Amino acid sequence: MTTAIGVVITEHIVAGRLEDQQLTGKLLHYPSDPEVPDELAAIPDSEMVEIIAGQIETLAGGGKAPRKTQLDAIGVAVPGIVRSGVVEESPNLPQIKGMRLKEELTKALEGHGIAAAVHIANDADAIAAGVAATRGRLDKLTRVWTIGNGIGYGRWPYVEGVWEGGHITVTLDPKEHYCGCGGIGHLEGIMGHRAMRLRFLDLEPEEVFANAKEGDKRCREFVDLWHRALAAATASFIHLAGPGRFYFTGCNVGFLELPLLRSHLETMVKMSPLQSFSLEILPQDDETALIGAGVSALRALGG
Ligand SMILES: [Zn+2]
Repeated sequence: MTTAIGVVITEHIVAGRLEDQQLTGKLLHYPSDPEVPDELAAIPDSEMVEIIAGQIETLAGGGKAPRKTQLDAIGVAVPGIVRSGVVEESPNLPQIKGMRLKEELTKALEGHGIAAAVHIANDADAIAAGVAATRGRLDKLTRVWTIGNGIGYGRWPYVEGVWEGGHITVTLDPKEHYCGCGGIGHLEGIMGHRAMRLRFLDLEPEEVFANAKEGDKRCREFVDLWHRALAAATASFIHLAGPGRFYFTGCNVGFLELPLLRSHLETMVKMSPLQSFSLEILPQDDETALIGAGVSALRALGG
């Protein structure tokens, strides 16, 4: 049997214990009151590492002696660019940018009497791993778009690289400058929550999509652009890595209309061997990323 701990850091921290790649027992949440917004962004990086180490200790042994339970792997999923255990970029949690998270967490865990290998993954990659694991598709290419404040792109199996799919260029229009990174024409500059608020200073994104349904011309045109942008980015990945399954999740996935996305994709992907793609919406949950964080850690460390 393998025992792993999965941890997901987004607007909050969630941790859980996996036995043979299945979640067992209760998940631990920080903050324990999920209604507290943005608390995590205000916590210093060292304190965050200590919180995670404490959660892992609780899950590892439940506080019982001996404290050092045999753990095969610890997987942590964070938003941003992650390479070799270092968080190179993390726009939504700026305090962890540049952090040697693998090293720091390993050190903090030693203080808690836990010696287990730590693996850090991008959060969207973790969701892709979780989907592949829970659907028995670990041998297949799985791609995930996370649609929220930012736009994330995740893939399983893990391949070395940056994979900032949310910043793929989907338009040459110089007026498309709403991306948080400052780049012109980016997918996130059209689809991201923050970018939509900048574009529609008088309307919240929810109102834009509601007005579009009622026939408002400006909003309808934008909703179409939003879907065309996602279709363009998805078509680019189909042209690079081939067809296959794409999953969509994230707090704004409710805006997505699969038939509209598909109709745009069909205008963009015309080579017949590439047309066998499938599209599926995933419900928003923490469990998928958590399982994926643990499974990618086991795979990365077990070879
Ligand atoms: Zn960008």
